[in-house]
Amino acid sequence: MKTVRDLGEFNLIHRLQRALGKANPTVVVGIGDDCAVLRSADAKKFLLITSDPVVEGVHFTLDTPPRQFGWKAMARNLSDIAAMGGLPRWAVVSIGLRPNTSVRAVEQIYAGLRAAAQKFRCEIVGGDTTHVKHEQFVVVTVVGEVERSRIALRSGAKIGDSVFVTGTLGGSLRGKHLTFTPRIDEARWLVRHFPVHAMIDVSDGLSSDLQRLVEAAGQRIGFEIYAAEIPLSRVAASSLTAALNDGEDFELLFTLDPRYVTALRRRWPRKFRLPLTEIGRVVRSRQPVTLVDAKGKKQSLMPAGYDHFAQRR
Ligand code: ADP
Ligand code: MG
Repeated sequence: MKTVRDLGEFNLIHRLQRALGKANPTVVVGIGDDCAVLRSADAKKFLLITSDPVVEGVHFTLDTPPRQFGWKAMARNLSDIAAMGGLPRWAVVSIGLRPNTSVRAVEQIYAGLRAAAQKFRCEIVGGDTTHVKHEQFVVVTVVGEVERSRIALRSGAKIGDSVFVTGTLGGSLRGKHLTFTPRIDEARWLVRHFPVHAMIDVSDGLSSDLQRLVEAAGQRIGFEIYAAEIPLSRVAASSLTAALNDGEDFELLFTLDPRYVTALRRRWPRKFRLPLTEIGRVVRSRQPVTLVDAKGKKQSLMPAGYDHFAQRR
């Protein structure tokens, strides 16, 4: 019997995608980006929709304060809206609770959910509640909007583009994965002022998420990433591997026409304290991702970020 572990998460989703097909003309982008993109009644905008669960034992533990995994459950969805250059508007929340859970704990989950949503003027408008026998979960679905002219897809990377990442990477499991701020403000500013070609939020890990951008581009592009430029988080200490593969960084990874790099470098620090780092460029290549060390030596970088079924962790 073939199992989902044999297939891996990525191949499983591909298989589901083939089976589901695509027929409805209101769907602009279906499976394969950070959010689905749908036509809106407002001809100037697209609707965005995304859904992500947090599950006890997978995304948080019994010791995690309920308010924190509530925050995380909302924030990781907001991060997917940010990755499209969008604004979150509405959310629905489904929770699975063990019957002996205290009411106070549920209120705390909602305090976290609401705090994250309110920070970006997103409103929780419904959901569902179920009991569970074992692991608890929170599933959030967020609907957002983006101006058609500003949407940033995973698929837009072009040869010659510069590659940027916000913040720092690695070691998120030490705490940031529960407390991070989705980069909505940064993404909105970027798409308002710069013609961003491709964007994704780093959720599975830089090595895997770069691979996603290559696959989405659907042509022979590759990334050359300068190892020495990758911004390592303080908790990742000097571990490049952690920065490449840990995941749950929820930073923005995007590509930009090199003509705009000087302006971006000048304007970004006037607007944000968050670091912004140019980590590489898009090249014509059969090799999806190449890591270039400080001496110029190149090696292929395989996707080794998080896969729910590969059980690397
Ligand atoms: P992200 O990390 O940005 O949330 P994922 O890697 O989880 O993205 O998902 C990649 C794409 O696959 C998305 O377009 C998502 O909607 C789709 N997808 C993931 N799981 C399923 C599923 N069970 N059924 C249909 N589509 C799915
Ligand atoms: Mg994403």
